[in-house]
Amino acid sequence: MPELPEVETVRRGLTPAMEGALLVRAELRRPDLRFPFPAGFATLISGRRIVSLGRRAKYLLIDLEGGDVIIAHLGMSGSFRVEDGRAEDGPASDTPGDFHHPRGKSEKHDHVVFHLESVNGPARVIYNDPRRFGFMDLARRDALSSHAFFRGLGEEPTGNVLDAAYLAARFAGKAQPLKSALLDQKNIAGLGNIYVCEALWRSGLSPLRAAGTLVDARGRPKTALVLLTEAIRTVIADAIAAGGSSLRDHIQTDGTLGYFQHSFSVYDREGEPCRTPGCGGTVARVVQAGRSTFYCPKCQK
Ligand SMILES: [Zn+2]
Repeated sequence: MPELPEVETVRRGLTPAMEGALLVRAELRRPDLRFPFPAGFATLISGRRIVSLGRRAKYLLIDLEGGDVIIAHLGMSGSFRVEDGRAEDGPASDTPGDFHHPRGKSEKHDHVVFHLESVNGPARVIYNDPRRFGFMDLARRDALSSHAFFRGLGEEPTGNVLDAAYLAARFAGKAQPLKSALLDQKNIAGLGNIYVCEALWRSGLSPLRAAGTLVDARGRPKTALVLLTEAIRTVIADAIAAGGSSLRDHIQTDGTLGYFQHSFSVYDREGEPCRTPGCGGTVARVVQAGRSTFYCPKCQK
């Protein structure tokens, strides 16, 4: 499943092709993905200019002129790719095989095609999703925060608002395990299992301890929470810098597989040596709320 860094990587990959382009025509090749497309979706978005590409949690936000926003979620196996316009008619003679981005998957899973026109010429942005757990919706920008997907979402792990004081206010008095508190989307939006495990390992904190133990009696963050907050921000920033991770079946918009999974320090490393210098412990796996937690019982307290 794509995590936040993948979605951010997709956003950055699509931006040069989509931002400022005219969405000449949206082509839907089936009536639904995980959910049906909104009524009149293709008609409503065709002929509109794309103002910007944003992201909230794991949702891609495509802002259109006129105040509508296309909300896209990649589900389990969704991906976008960009093809320039000439590819549709076969390779142009002067630029043989002019697919900027090679096809990564079977064409039968191409469910949505955005036909674009920009200063760079025609292009197509194609949404491919073999398992069809992804979905698209349309909303008004000025009503986005009250939309069912976004209502009650916590702060982004990439923004400046997420700080130790914010988390202290959320965690104070909580007996809930720290791992669960960090996965709670009402606290931090878009932070997934992998990066929670990584951030806890980096900050030397046990996923099993109560979230409230990181807050002092006056409601202020203890030093450990300050370090954890920093670890959350850096683990996400590192992953975005690495181009997003992918455990399986996810392709970046430029057609290459993500590679950050090779540098996970603790996630999916059960039974392997802890990488904390001088620790000598072994990575353990426990199940919390139905999700695997990987951590080092020796150095994460
Ligand atoms: Zn360790």
